[in-house]
Amino acid sequence: MSRWLLAVLAGSYAFAAGPSAAELAKQIRDAGLDPDECYRVRDLSFQKEDIRIYLTEGYLIFSKPLAGSRRSAVFTADVEGGDGEVLLLPPYRGERQSLALFTQSANLDEHFQAALMIFTDASMQALVDRIVKEGTGKKAPEMGPALAEKWGPVLANVQSGFQIRMIQDLLAPAQEGGMLFLALNGRQVGSFDMIYDPRSREQIVAGQMAERNGRLTYNVWTSFAARSVRTGKTNQAPSWFSLSKFRIDAALDADLRMKATTRVTMRVGSRPLRVFPFDISRSMKVTSVKIDGAPAELFMQESVRGRALRGSDNDVFLVVNPEALAPETEHEVEFEHEGAVIASAGNGVYFVGARATWYPRSSGGFATYDLTFRYPKRLTLVSAGDIAEDRTDGDSRITRWRTPVAIRMAGFNLGEYEKISGVVPGYAIDVYGNRHLETSLAPKPRPPAVEPPRLPRSRIDTAPSIAPAPAAPPDPLARLRTVAADVSSALDFFTASFGPPALKTLTVAPIPGTFGQGFPGLVYLSTLTYLDPSQRPALVRDPAHQVFFSELIEAHEVAHQWWGNVVTTNAYQDEWMLEALSSYSALLWLEKKKGAKAANAVLDDYREHLLAKDEQGRTTESAGPIIWGGRLDSSGVADAWRSITYEKGAWIFHMLRRRLGDERFMKMLAEMRHRYEFKSITTEDLRALAKEFLPPHTPPAAIDTFFENWVYATGIPALKIKYTVKGVAPAVKISGTITQTGVDDDFSIEAPVEVQFAKGAPQTVWVRTSNEASTFSATVKQIPLRAVVSDGVLAKK
Ligand SMILES: [Zn+2]
Repeated sequence: MSRWLLAVLAGSYAFAAGPSAAELAKQIRDAGLDPDECYRVRDLSFQKEDIRIYLTEGYLIFSKPLAGSRRSAVFTADVEGGDGEVLLLPPYRGERQSLALFTQSANLDEHFQAALMIFTDASMQALVDRIVKEGTGKKAPEMGPALAEKWGPVLANVQSGFQIRMIQDLLAPAQEGGMLFLALNGRQVGSFDMIYDPRSREQIVAGQMAERNGRLTYNVWTSFAARSVRTGKTNQAPSWFSLSKFRIDAALDADLRMKATTRVTMRVGSRPLRVFPFDISRSMKVTSVKIDGAPAELFMQESVRGRALRGSDNDVFLVVNPEALAPETEHEVEFEHEGAVIASAGNGVYFVGARATWYPRSSGGFATYDLTFRYPKRLTLVSAGDIAEDRTDGDSRITRWRTPVAIRMAGFNLGEYEKISGVVPGYAIDVYGNRHLETSLAPKPRPPAVEPPRLPRSRIDTAPSIAPAPAAPPDPLARLRTVAADVSSALDFFTASFGPPALKTLTVAPIPGTFGQGFPGLVYLSTLTYLDPSQRPALVRDPAHQVFFSELIEAHEVAHQWWGNVVTTNAYQDEWMLEALSSYSALLWLEKKKGAKAANAVLDDYREHLLAKDEQGRTTESAGPIIWGGRLDSSGVADAWRSITYEKGAWIFHMLRRRLGDERFMKMLAEMRHRYEFKSITTEDLRALAKEFLPPHTPPAAIDTFFENWVYATGIPALKIKYTVKGVAPAVKISGTITQTGVDDDFSIEAPVEVQFAKGAPQTVWVRTSNEASTFSATVKQIPLRAVVSDGVLAKK
């Protein structure tokens, strides 16, 4: 390649302050193992926060320098008496439990045969220097070439999965935020990884790639904040930049392929920065990017491991400015992107496949949106906010949506819709339904009749033959009016209970499948919601599914206007609150609409799911504490994440309501919405809030016990009550014991004992349970009918 051509390809980077991402990527690929930097090491050890590594006996070969420093190395214990060892002690009980689930040991102490190490900062160079200074190794030039040849391709392969992150760190100011990645070949547990990443909320992770149901997933064994962060010696990494004011111009052609320009205001954080990571759906391709009107570099490459680790189908890409942008300055970033994000469910029913990442986003944060869509005029397109413009131009329709306030993300949907408006004073509610039925819901052609087997007459119990009536196709709009009424009623009830939602407009649109989703101002409801219950597929015609599709899903998604779109979370450990609150809000609405019995029946179903056992005798609930979030599915217990997050989550709020009392509980939710408006909340924030709303004279320890056992641990006890009654009215003494079984010895909760009378309201006595029988006694004014463990606690029946 000529010098001239190289200069052209380098383009605007000819005068760049630093190397481009593409140049770094090439350097990373070229920085193979260095045969001249191979050592025979003995008792060389190092530590990164909680991770301790001992290279007891073996060979260590370093990579060639990359951007001025050696960044990777391979250790092999392939010598007489060779060994390496790694130690990791999780600091919390729950994390030790999780580790034990995968490795059969609460602490990780694993000997390994080989280790591949990548440091994105200069720590590796420091290790080279130490070997020389401490004499823990001797150069072994005779082994260099063979080891480089054997391990070079392995390193290249692993390193290619970290390219994006390595580039990001190499371009960061003074190489801040450098990470350590270890791929280890354990003698007991097989191949596994350990990560120290100062940019994460939990800097230490140990885990393993695994295959489940034919899909690659990442099993997180344990994940926690590094020692220096736990002890307050260092702070959580601050956010490096933030986004506000999205302006998106999107055009959909006749095939519904999208071509879009996204402009967004970007504010640099407290340090100069030239590299900015973004997320986008894999079905979108970003073709160019500019910062303040000048071309910036676009770097995109993703790995299977990266996706599995993030549990996401999105791709991360980097926007690299030729030079660092000054701290606390604002810039306009402009992306051109295109792709097929709209999928067809057949028969004119569509859905947006990339529901949240059809435009470039960066984690967290609220922003305003100004969205203009140009699309075929036969369709209706819905999005969030107010319609600022709506016109046709030839065969196209152009609609512009604007959000008056900052929201978390913007979605859209389109189809051949019918519309009904809901009625809640002060709000604009539009509920859309599909005019046609998606292919999968249409009646299937009948299979040809099969001759009955020829058996002796006496053995056939024949029924009078009935010619089957041809199945009528379900009406996709059967419940449009009911859905509009329910959505309005839920919005009204929640507004009265919690305060105003994120936006004054709410659009509801159908989505094929069995789920819903609640974006700010835009709710997706399963198309099954719109069908008459008798016309739903046979698989969902049991009572629990019918309640779900006819009542709960609507209220749940509407509740997300508060839980998720006003109050949000920013860590996987806290996300459960949004789903649990939306589920429980739906139950509060059902209780108001149909009475406590209907809501309790749903809670009973939830209890049953949580207690259901798999083939190995494990209950769904035992998969792990609710704060593990998506990690619950790594446990291999079927349905664990969904059931624990939505169903145990609803129970947690139900029990909290019983503990605080109805009025205080509802006040707490309103206060939560008010205090955390457009902010994120943590599980610990919720614990503190609950303490503020405890009834007078209740010890705050009651809430601590509640959280330690229901939120941070697992277990559903069986509770047995025994009691005696003495004395006469008005001084009757009831005393007894509660015995708890079926949980760990350290499980302890406050159980409500309900003393019921022939006349008047029952009286509740709270009894703290433990592995021994707990005694209680109370004085009441009349002879009780009975005392029972209240329905308000999640316990085996
Ligand atoms: Zn939800």
